Amino acid sequence: MATPRTVTVINGDGIGPEVMAATLRVLQALEVPLEFEHRDAGAECIAKFGTNLPDATVESVLRNGVALKGPTGTVVGGGMASANVGLRKRLDLYSALRPVKSVPGVKTRYEGVDLVVVRENTESLYAGLEHIIVPGVVESLKIITEKASTRIARFAFEHARKNGRKKVTAVHKANIMKLSDGLFLDCARKVGREFPEIQYEEVIVDNMCMQLVKDPSRYDVLVMENLYGDILSDLCAGLVGGLGLVPGANIGERTAMFEAVHGTAPDIAGKGLANPTALMMSAVMMLDWLDMKDAARRFENALTRVHSEGKARTGDLGGTSSTRDFTDAVIAAL
Ligand code: ATP
Ligand code: MG
Repeated sequence: MATPRTVTVINGDGIGPEVMAATLRVLQALEVPLEFEHRDAGAECIAKFGTNLPDATVESVLRNGVALKGPTGTVVGGGMASANVGLRKRLDLYSALRPVKSVPGVKTRYEGVDLVVVRENTESLYAGLEHIIVPGVVESLKIITEKASTRIARFAFEHARKNGRKKVTAVHKANIMKLSDGLFLDCARKVGREFPEIQYEEVIVDNMCMQLVKDPSRYDVLVMENLYGDILSDLCAGLVGGLGLVPGANIGERTAMFEAVHGTAPDIAGKGLANPTALMMSAVMMLDWLDMKDAARRFENALTRVHSEGKARTGDLGGTSSTRDFTDAVIAAL
């Protein structure tokens, strides 16, 4: 048996501990050579450590190079930057990769959706660089750099090339934000020239929203800056049945952190009702990233089987199963 690889596990807030426990049960049942190092982050962690992102957590992820993370909550209007933003910045996880794929057996308005959202993770309005100029006047800074824009564009095109995808669409608002989004587009175009076999196009973000709900099959890989990526990720999740289904990876040069697209879902937290599929699919992405392909396929196939049979189905997909029932079904299907 190979020497086990250590993964930092961050439960997070809200439904985080529930979907994480479910996912770890499946990983244990798979008997993959992984060890888990539990660390804290998020809103609940503040009471214990006085911060939503303890140094020990960042240190653990840097040392292990890989983390599996539940959603972390934020304190609205508080002075503290969110743990998510902090983790992405301090670990330099510059890209968010979110495959959005129809799940067999889950009926929605669309069939055969197969999109990849690539979101820049470190700058734009989402960096939270805000200050009060005088009471009643607030300034929020949108920083766009050539370096970050080029890096995310290259990531998107390389992902397309590696995975046999045909087209990269840059999503922007350069008609209004001519300088900032203009720079983003310049960088994407430049990188695109290095990938002649991949089609490149640009769509303005508001139009993109309409096009996606009209016909998502026209798109393949979507690349965009941070805030647009936040919003379009949720929109795309809606195309395939909601946030309970869409996984994600935050990837840097040396480190990767796998987490679902959804938030802490306070409305259903602590009730055992959450759909763990999104975090489970994130764990599948992690297994692939760790080159544990056999375990990844077994996990993925079990999830597909349970969804297509439709017997164990959580409330977000119209069923009555608990997180535990669903997880039992996945383990039985392995
Ligand atoms: P955040 O600011 O943390 O992103 P949010 O306000 O965007 O939070 P989410 O926590 O993402 O909200 O949840 C949005 C809706 O989707 C809620 O109604 C929530 O119950 C539902 N939801 C999210 N994740 C899941 C899940 N895993 N299973 C079932 N329902 C979910
Ligand atoms: Mg959200």
